[in-house]
Amino acid sequence: MKIRQTTFFGRHTLLLVLATLTATADPVDYFADNGFAKPVSTMQHPNAEHYKGVTYVAYQGPHEDPYVCAYDHKTAQWSGPYKAGTSQLGKTPDPTDRDTVDNHGRPALLVDNDGYIHLIFGGHGGLSALGKNHLGTPGRGRQMHVVSKNPEDISSWEVLDNISPFGTYSQFVKMADGDIYLFYRHGSHRSDWVYQKSTDNCRTFSPEVSILKHKMQLNPNTHDSWYAWFHEGKGDTIAVTFNYHPCKILGHDSTRLNAYFMKMSCANESWENVKGESLKMPITKEYADKMALACDTDGVGIRRVTLRVDSKGFPHLLHRRASELVHFYWDGKAWQESVVFTKDYKVTDADFAVESPGVIRLLVTARTENQNEVSWWTTQNGGHSWEKERTLMANTTNTDYLMGALVRNAQSDAQVVVSEINPNQDHLYRKVFLLGDKGAVQRH
Ligand code: ZN
Repeated sequence: MKIRQTTFFGRHTLLLVLATLTATADPVDYFADNGFAKPVSTMQHPNAEHYKGVTYVAYQGPHEDPYVCAYDHKTAQWSGPYKAGTSQLGKTPDPTDRDTVDNHGRPALLVDNDGYIHLIFGGHGGLSALGKNHLGTPGRGRQMHVVSKNPEDISSWEVLDNISPFGTYSQFVKMADGDIYLFYRHGSHRSDWVYQKSTDNCRTFSPEVSILKHKMQLNPNTHDSWYAWFHEGKGDTIAVTFNYHPCKILGHDSTRLNAYFMKMSCANESWENVKGESLKMPITKEYADKMALACDTDGVGIRRVTLRVDSKGFPHLLHRRASELVHFYWDGKAWQESVVFTKDYKVTDADFAVESPGVIRLLVTARTENQNEVSWWTTQNGGHSWEKERTLMANTTNTDYLMGALVRNAQSDAQVVVSEINPNQDHLYRKVFLLGDKGAVQRH
């Protein structure tokens, strides 16, 4: 095994280096062991993309900095990890303190049509010192954009200072014509969600366009806030599902309510609801309730997972409602829903692909009574019943798994990035895996 040990500080460094040096030449299932805290999530997405025979993978490494590895499918060789940038988060001296890590260092990754690799990372609303945030309230860190210096080469990187520093939950959507949209929340909780568009491979971006509006409620202690997840829809459209967060000044909690859906036609950047009625942007809470509601949870908590569209362009949404994983889909006339997993499964994250009408494959990281596992599940009847197709990884040692969104343009042998979270270790460094139909992509 030959993993490039990265520089970080702490008493565990020596142990990790020794472990690396004393390892045999046997291949290992993980491609890096310097994932940090919660290295991947479906939220910042995509975090991996296949491009011309290579799968590029990004994750949060030491000090919440973005790291990149690449797997060449032809030679079966890994390269990296390379540190691709420096986040303004996670610079506390002791990386064993969970409370000082907020995991907003996690990068989103995109390969442009010229083969350059882009990462957006490190924002959690932006420090007040960055200036006035006209679309929200300040937070921490700074949203940053780096690009590989050369195409199809992850060994050197440079900063492109061409996006708002106030972003967080950065998400790339690349369209078939090469246009790239960067969606994010423009600040901490009480902020609008916006996008910036690039038609020149992320060398320049349009100014921010606001789509979800934050504002004070009649009760001034509560502000409207949102959590959203964007994905390419059918044709020239972008689809989004989102939850409402009543953000309280006093007595703040993390409550999120309701599931919503809308989509944008990229041709003229106009939005419409699931029925095709046009929407006036940016939308407010009251307007979203009237025009874009997919599920009123009636006060029950809900959290977005991911979204896909089927061959008709109809949306399928995954959310966790009261700890159950729920599949919502539009049948052309109304929203339908079914529970995929009850709360007994303790789902940490999931993503899915609609392969044909009624046939959905779902990859999930979940815990049952007996073990934690990363598994494929399938429905043949539009989500009414699900069967386990295959388990890719499992353990009975209480180690949780976290996953990113499905790899963009994935090859069958490299479909998702997963990290282990072992609660019994007293440091925050994590093994990171690339899993596909043959299990983990091994590293020699
Ligand atoms: Zn809040």
